[in-house]
Amino acid sequence: MQSLREIISDAEQKKVAIGHFNISDITALHAIFESAQELSVPIIIGVSEGEREFIGTKQAVALVKSLREQYDYPIFINADHTYSLEKIKEAVDAGFDAVIFDGAKLPIEENIKKTKEVVEYVKKSGKDVLVEAEIGYIGASSKLLDAIPEGAKIEEKDLPTEADVKKFVQETGIDLLAPAVGNIHGMFKGAPNPNLQIELIKNLRDAAGVPLVLHGGSGIKDEQFTEAIKAGIAIVHINTEIRVAWRKGIETGLSANKDEIAPYKILPQAKEEIKKVVLQRLKLFNNI
Ligand SMILES: [Zn+2]
Repeated sequence: MQSLREIISDAEQKKVAIGHFNISDITALHAIFESAQELSVPIIIGVSEGEREFIGTKQAVALVKSLREQYDYPIFINADHTYSLEKIKEAVDAGFDAVIFDGAKLPIEENIKKTKEVVEYVKKSGKDVLVEAEIGYIGASSKLLDAIPEGAKIEEKDLPTEADVKKFVQETGIDLLAPAVGNIHGMFKGAPNPNLQIELIKNLRDAAGVPLVLHGGSGIKDEQFTEAIKAGIAIVHINTEIRVAWRKGIETGLSANKDEIAPYKILPQAKEEIKKVVLQRLKLFNNI
């Protein structure tokens, strides 16, 4: 089987993007895995610090790797938004395929310094773990929004420049970069999210010299995704849309079966709702 590194490089060549979807439980994991299988595309499962705390760091790895082994399938696991070296160590030691150090809120020099420590730790571990870092704060929660998250950088003048990105990658030695390009975490309730800066994505990909990751994919318009992927995005993160689908499915399941108490008879409704979202997004990202 190809490594995650090879799969990302293939996606770039084909001008498609790998879907990265977050989970809090096995319902979403099954929904995402079945969707990927139906379309025969590789997939990345993300678990943030909070999601890891709920599932268990080692348990999340065991779940994903058991699918990879049983089905000989390219499914990978990423330690999404990690804010300390200590939590990075925990994830690397537990067997994650990739980790994200998120120092986007720190001044750039501080972000570089801390990211470098992460890269050094991963190198020393001798494991083939990809390191992603963040430049430009885009908000921190996967939730429904009424307004742009406080402090998020979405205006052109606040976004990272080619020079910032070049310096960042060269000094840290990261494998993947998630720059702010007009995207935000979370999604607006009744309207699409703000537009992405497509030209900037193209320029930053050239300046970075490493594949780019788009966070906050929920709520972005289809045509914006297509253009962003063409411009150089290799991985797209979706979380909020999964959470919205999960809740809708749970509510449908509960109200349709008032006396039902078996979780495995209610939860399939959530799985079906999540599958609808994932299938639609994967088709778009993979040009199917
Ligand atoms: Zn994110």
